[in-house]
Amino acid sequence: MKHLIRLSFSIFILTFMACGDTTVQNQDDTDNNNQTQENTEFDYMTEQIADLKILRYQIPGFENLKKKEKQLVYYLYQAALSGRDIVWDQNYKHNLCIRRTLEAIVNSYEGDRTTDDFKKFMTYTKRVWFSNGIHHHYAKYKFEPEFSETYFTELLNSLDKNLLPLEKGESYEAFLGKITKVMFDQTIAPKKVNLDPSIDLVAKSAVNFYDEDITTKEAEAFYDKMIDKGDPNPISYGLNSKVVREGGQLKEKVWKIGGMYSKAIEKIVFWLEKAVTVAENPNQKRALEKLVAYYKSGDLKMFDEYNIAWVNDVNSVVDVVNGFIETYEDPLSKKGSFESVLSIRDFEASKRIQKIGSFAQWFEDNSPISDEHKKENVTGISAKVITVVVESGDASPSTPIGINLPNSNWIREKHGSKSVQLGNIVHAYDMASKGSGFLQEFCIDEEEIKRSKEFGSYSDVLHTDMHEVIGHASGKINEGISSPDVTLKNYASTLEEARADLVALYYLYDEKLVEIGVMESLEYGKAAYDDYIRNGLMTQLMRLELGEDLEEAHMRNRQLVAKWVYEKGMDDNVVEKKEKDGKTYFVVNDYGKLKTLFGELLKEIQRIKSEGDYDSGKALVEDYGVKVDRQLHNEVLDRYEKLNIAPYSGFINPILVPVMNDQDEIVDVKVEYTHSFKEQMLYYAKEYSFLPTYN
Ligand code: ZN
Repeated sequence: MKHLIRLSFSIFILTFMACGDTTVQNQDDTDNNNQTQENTEFDYMTEQIADLKILRYQIPGFENLKKKEKQLVYYLYQAALSGRDIVWDQNYKHNLCIRRTLEAIVNSYEGDRTTDDFKKFMTYTKRVWFSNGIHHHYAKYKFEPEFSETYFTELLNSLDKNLLPLEKGESYEAFLGKITKVMFDQTIAPKKVNLDPSIDLVAKSAVNFYDEDITTKEAEAFYDKMIDKGDPNPISYGLNSKVVREGGQLKEKVWKIGGMYSKAIEKIVFWLEKAVTVAENPNQKRALEKLVAYYKSGDLKMFDEYNIAWVNDVNSVVDVVNGFIETYEDPLSKKGSFESVLSIRDFEASKRIQKIGSFAQWFEDNSPISDEHKKENVTGISAKVITVVVESGDASPSTPIGINLPNSNWIREKHGSKSVQLGNIVHAYDMASKGSGFLQEFCIDEEEIKRSKEFGSYSDVLHTDMHEVIGHASGKINEGISSPDVTLKNYASTLEEARADLVALYYLYDEKLVEIGVMESLEYGKAAYDDYIRNGLMTQLMRLELGEDLEEAHMRNRQLVAKWVYEKGMDDNVVEKKEKDGKTYFVVNDYGKLKTLFGELLKEIQRIKSEGDYDSGKALVEDYGVKVDRQLHNEVLDRYEKLNIAPYSGFINPILVPVMNDQDEIVDVKVEYTHSFKEQMLYYAKEYSFLPTYN
């Protein structure tokens, strides 16, 4: 897939996008950017805070849902947001206390809000909101406030003390001492997750998964004793609990109704039980019932049963992830952070993918690969694209753009998994980058910029569809030849990605896509070619540190393809390298010839795969896909840095508003996009603060 950085097998996260926005206004206290779905001028980008961009996304297709589906979505939306507090407490035990204190100030401070100090206070608060705690969501370090402890104390002193989250019997002085120490003393909990192998990971990580005095050795021994190593179907040991020391013994405090985080889980279950009553079909109903049973009992066997039922629920329009899922925040990778991702099927993408898939045989028959490597009976792979309705917990505001679950290996092997692309999130990223200085910086030609703005994001989507549905499905291996993993070894995935990209590229400048109605003109193909060449030869280098070579399979494949066609087309000047004012550009001069070159390389890579020709595969990847032009890399990093694009992005969620009749029945659900980031955070705090400050 394009633009995806694969961090682990279950999540793709965009850590730094290839594009971004420079013309950003800070909308700190202007909370009136009203937008509705009908509005064509939807603002995807709202504001930039420190190293963060705050974006928004829409839910196309929502209004086409049936009444019962809308009810279901609404209940699951509430269930998602009901768990929001959990991740705050999981990330650090003082997080809820600090958040509630910051929010009390934002809501009630009556002093001057125009001062530099107050602006710095708001920046800090927004960074905390974005990270679900006082540690950076990605880099894990603790935020250092840019305002002084004295100023913060003044803010607090000016407030009615009843607005502050004081513990029972805690004096204001004790509270003040505690919170300022935690926020300002950089020696306290400096890292959320510490992965420095020279120190005690569990004891030195601020996450609230183990009592503070528990060491890595103790925690590991505790689980070693528990785990049955001969079990072919092991539960996810430790996934839903905190390890505490009680009377000298370690034990688990389980996250369930009646256990830790009960108050939030009760709300989640309340809404899930309503969702069960309007489930779309028996499979979905069974999955939701098992999820409820799991939240009630905390039984991890039930969680496995839930996952199996969930994997089998493939026909529903509405789908949801809700639970303790990813374990990245635990230095021992056992404890699941709460998250929920609620989605509906992407109807447009589904139609488009179906259309493309129905011509799979035509694409195969007309492909430039050798006839002997063509499949006689090819069916397109069904790539799944979903439309996100709301995200919460660990998946919000920073979000994955692809999800592949469940995480349990034996369930994946025996029962399968679901792999989806978050279509409207990817689209929002793309749209937000439109106003960026990125294209101006890296394109020499106004025509190219115009084309990219007009056709670029859709051609990107089409590229992904063709890559997934047709590309990976095409071609066959010669009889008697082993699978590419065996024959092509470490070059297999780069060559496979190159093959899929080349199938997509070859047809993106082909009248067939216009003829079958998935593309209006070949202009989309031109935009795709410009983008691919620019990225493969140049701009993707911004993701590498100086001195690094290409490692990741998709990045290797893109340079391999772009560099090969650049070199082979040199005599005809198909792709031209231009220089102006010390800056390098790549320009496509002949799209037709470029298509032919893509076809030639596709034919060769298919041959390599079909014949299992390791030496040729190795030579291609090593010659074209690995080494980085250091001078160009340096230049790209330099140009990118000057664009001043915030490297991380996150999203404001849409708001669902139910329309009720006299019997208090939901008859319709409306979607609003009216929240600013600040409004949304305050709204969530008001509506979904179900946990005590300390748990
Ligand atoms: Zn692929």
